[in-house]
Amino acid sequence: MVNKITIENLKAVYEGVLALNGVNLDIRQNEILGIIGPSRSGKTTLLKVLNRMIDFVPRSRVEGKILFDNLNIYTDIRLLALRRKIGMVYALPLPLPMSIFDNVAYGPRLHGTKSKSVLSDIVEKCLKASYLWDEVKDRLDSQAFQLSGGQQQRLCISRTLAVEPEVILYDEPCSGLDPISTAKVEDAMRELKEKYTQVLVTNNTKQAARVSDRTAFFLMGELVEVDNTKKIFTGPSDERTNDYITGKFG
Ligand code: ADP
Ligand code: MG
Repeated sequence: MVNKITIENLKAVYEGVLALNGVNLDIRQNEILGIIGPSRSGKTTLLKVLNRMIDFVPRSRVEGKILFDNLNIYTDIRLLALRRKIGMVYALPLPLPMSIFDNVAYGPRLHGTKSKSVLSDIVEKCLKASYLWDEVKDRLDSQAFQLSGGQQQRLCISRTLAVEPEVILYDEPCSGLDPISTAKVEDAMRELKEKYTQVLVTNNTKQAARVSDRTAFFLMGELVEVDNTKKIFTGPSDERTNDYITGKFG
């Protein structure tokens, strides 16, 4: 089992708030790692540390070591390269106010790809990978906001894929979607497993049970336990995990 990311003794502090307190966690190549836990347990912060978006938060502080392919993300990798390799999909789909095609082509264009045929190939490949192609192939020039919420979220996944990341982080990607749209986003994640390492923060424990290979339970900034998803949902080691997944607190 190859580790894509290794997190050692991670602490993250915002002005007086200890958001993560001594987290040790490996993220394995090509797995879907589910991250569950009540709100304010530090899930989003963990994702923000991984692609260093937390650098934008004034007076935030990070301690510990994070290795990405055995390289320290703070000292051995350039920031832009890191952000390109670790893509993020947010809770609310935020397509850009432009066509479906241009949304997917945006990142590659920014990185210097100009050829229309190369861009067309990228757009087709990424829309296929995110399970959206069949629904939009005849209207690539339509405005992205005309798509349904679920389609917009899959478009956002396509956009993330277009700059060829190795890891995809999702922060509650289906929280605003109906069950059918959610199922399609989950199908896309399963399809993407072959090529990518995925970290899925979800406030929906059932979603973690459905799609994650392993699941980590966070509580008040601490990793309570991480194990195979089946084990977490049928016989967790820690009573607090059991209380959470059985709905005793949320
Ligand atoms: P989760 O995603 O599990 O809900 P977060 O990582 O967003 O948890 O938050 C963890 C803790 O950090 C919470 O107590 C939250 O209030 C605090 N926090 C998050 N972002 C900021 C910020 N930008 N400034 C100050 N405190 C923050
Ligand atoms: Mg969050």
